[in-house]
Amino acid sequence: MAIIQDSWFTVTKIDKSTFAISEYGHWEKVHSFLLIGTNKAALIDTGLGIDNIKRITDQLTDLPIIVITTHVHTDHIGSHKQFSEFYVHEAESDWLINGIEGLSLEQIRINIGRDITKATPTSFSPVTYTPFQGEPTGLLVDGDKIDIGNRLLEIIHTPGHSPGHCCIYEEARGYLFTGDLLYMETPIYAFYPTTDPEQLVNSLERIAKIENVKVVYGSHNQLGIDVVILDEVLEAVRELRYRDVVRHGTGIHKFKGFSVQF
Ligand SMILES: [Zn+2]
Ligand SMILES: [Zn+2]
Repeated sequence: MAIIQDSWFTVTKIDKSTFAISEYGHWEKVHSFLLIGTNKAALIDTGLGIDNIKRITDQLTDLPIIVITTHVHTDHIGSHKQFSEFYVHEAESDWLINGIEGLSLEQIRINIGRDITKATPTSFSPVTYTPFQGEPTGLLVDGDKIDIGNRLLEIIHTPGHSPGHCCIYEEARGYLFTGDLLYMETPIYAFYPTTDPEQLVNSLERIAKIENVKVVYGSHNQLGIDVVILDEVLEAVRELRYRDVVRHGTGIHKFKGFSVQF
């Protein structure tokens, strides 16, 4: 049941102070997440930027919002301009300020404009769409702990899909937000030049060994993944290494709940 009626976004209540804000009208099926603490709220990514996600966060909290960026790809920084405080891993601060490396504007516009199944606002046009650029408020490093008031969020640097990719772990609730490192249905991308298959596999291994995870939240497709996926990830890591395919050009490798493309 929808808790907010909206033309573009779908809001799902994960618990009384945690919400997923999803964009099912676009083929990428992107999720952003709002975590509300007692003195501020954290927004993990800001979506595609086809529509303004702040319209939704304004309805969910009055607290100041800090944006935590999983990584600097178009579909995760779309509404950053709507927020005054946003953080990114130090390895991708240059991409945020000067533009994303490795993807042409032409390719970005093709990706953003295709296979849209919901009405988009008149402010959106794939022809003029330009990814956000701006100076981050601060930089993230591995092991950072962000306190939003009775909620502690840990930054885990998980490069591979991109150099500064981060997962966010909230141990108290067992929520692991995995960005584009781990999700279901479509392949996890590590095939273009700015990706690194070896780092991606190391990052997958690292998150699979985190203890006390209850639910995994990837940034695309199915919302909320059973934690058993982490066992499958460990097996996949072993298999990929054993088969000696952890490098660019070896194609799509399918496992039980997910796949990777090198
Ligand atoms: Zn990405
Ligand atoms: Zn993505």
